[in-house]
Amino acid sequence: MKNLFHTENFKPDKKNIVRAKKHLGQHFLKDETIALNIVKAFTDECKTKSALEIGPGMGVLTKYLLEQKTFETYAIDIDKESIVWLKEHFPSLENKLIEGDFLNLNLGDIFKEPFSLIGNFPYNISSQIVFKIIENKNQIPLMVGMFQKEVAERFSANPCSKAYGILSVLTQAYYHVEYLFTVSETVFDPPPKVKSGVIRLKRRETDFDVPEKMLFKVVKAGFNQRRKKLRNALSQFNISDEILKPSGFSDKRAEELSVQDFVTLTHLVINNSDTIGK
Ligand code: SAH
Repeated sequence: MKNLFHTENFKPDKKNIVRAKKHLGQHFLKDETIALNIVKAFTDECKTKSALEIGPGMGVLTKYLLEQKTFETYAIDIDKESIVWLKEHFPSLENKLIEGDFLNLNLGDIFKEPFSLIGNFPYNISSQIVFKIIENKNQIPLMVGMFQKEVAERFSANPCSKAYGILSVLTQAYYHVEYLFTVSETVFDPPPKVKSGVIRLKRRETDFDVPEKMLFKVVKAGFNQRRKKLRNALSQFNISDEILKPSGFSDKRAEELSVQDFVTLTHLVINNSDTIGK
């Protein structure tokens, strides 16, 4: 079917709505109470002067964000049709609305100071969004976001659970993670196939004392061979078992280690591996 809204002359009126595009992960939230609860979880903790919403779509969160006086709201959406719609419905957003891909956005170009992030995120790029947050963690003290439930659970998962993995350890190393609530698929148009979960990330006041790159390497090596005991999963670092064994990690699997354990293990690797530059 022809997409009526994709012409250059498209001028939305109140009856028109943005047509959901699957490849952009568009599922529009219809429930105003849930929208308000998401925004409240954000405003309760937002201490920055600016907020950035990723993927506003038809502005279900944006309208509540724009009511706030304590911060200025910016928004980025990749979908031209949403941008046109938003400009029409929220003229005050005009100069703070970016058409583009969040993953390619140079955050330093837009924000000179810390800012907070919010969004019902496109599920196809959720892990990439979080990795970008971790990369820019010193500029992003707060994030409230909706993810596919299974992904939301990974961020907040504890050791020894099925959901616990790379995303859990790396996120929790830099942020306090709260799983706030689950959202049913029925409150979206079109409904996604799975439930959603809203999480909040608050930047830790003090970081673990560990070089980030090495922590990432060790965590990835551990979980890339999830089923293997760590002495095998970490073989690339060439550490003798005599050194690994007394730590108690040798016979464990990655999923059994807490974030603090990974920090300890990373130091062990740094001090004893002959495959990395010291
Ligand atoms: N927040 C709205 C829309 C959620 S759907 C609501 O809750 O109803 C996800 C939104 O993210 C869509 O508007 C889609 O166009 C946008 N989007 C998808 N990929 C994006 C990207 N890479 N960068 C920015 N926005 C993106």
